[in-house]
Amino acid sequence: MLVYHLPGTFETREHHLDLLWEAGATGLEERRGLIRAYFDDRAALPTEIGDGEWLEEAEQDWQAEFKRTLRPVQAGRVTIVTPWQQQEVPAGQLPLVIEPGMAFGTGHHATTRMAVEALGELDLSGKRVLDVGTGSGVLAIAAALLGAGWTLGVDIDPVTIPIARENAGVNGVQASQAQFEEGTLGLGDLDVLEDEPFDVLVANLYAELHDLLAGEYAAHMQPSAPLILTGILTGKLPLVRSALEREGFADVQVREDGEWALVTAHR
Ligand code: SAM
Repeated sequence: MLVYHLPGTFETREHHLDLLWEAGATGLEERRGLIRAYFDDRAALPTEIGDGEWLEEAEQDWQAEFKRTLRPVQAGRVTIVTPWQQQEVPAGQLPLVIEPGMAFGTGHHATTRMAVEALGELDLSGKRVLDVGTGSGVLAIAAALLGAGWTLGVDIDPVTIPIARENAGVNGVQASQAQFEEGTLGLGDLDVLEDEPFDVLVANLYAELHDLLAGEYAAHMQPSAPLILTGILTGKLPLVRSALEREGFADVQVREDGEWALVTAHR
């Protein structure tokens, strides 16, 4: 990677930035009093730019760098790890392997962690679980590993579905235990749900969507089935509380982690 280092900032060198672009720079960056101009090939720069220096730097794979910084996440009885951290799962913990990638849900977000924790507090043996907004499939896979009889993960983003299926496979979760489909609740063609109501519903979305979907949650759940909702900013808790009240949910319990909240309830 060829980089031209030029002392100064975007502000002090404003009049030189166009000259760098015109000379063929593919990117400009400012770091600690230095402008870094990226080039594919060494270019003849106008003399007025002056006192810079050409350097050949090692390529940096930012994605690999990011992945290296991820640490295992303990969420109640489950420890969420990347495929290369499987040896780091403490004895007695259930390992849940997620390949960090394009779908949300590596376990590093407080909402995912709280939801896995809340699932681990339920007796899921043989239960039918619905995961709305499955992303990487992390919550549906956690439910399957925790003993659920059958789990359905749905997401409106089609990109997530093959990723979730692959993550399920990596965890040894069979298609007969966890199914992933593009879809959601109550939106015509995208409503993929059968008539039989679920024993547990978990959804990591956002407060406004929980407000819109609360009636659908109620319609797709067995009486007194537990509901787990997260993705809720603590400031938006009143909206979720009133939606749950409106739809006849009771025993609303809240847990918080920083600015994020998780709500459990049942009807
Ligand atoms: N379940 C994962 C977790 O807990 O880490 C991922 C949660 S991520 C915050 C939210 C996911 O919901 C995204 O994958 C997004 O595509 C999906 N989503 C957004 N709106 C939705 C809707 N109306 N119905 C179903 N999925 C939705």
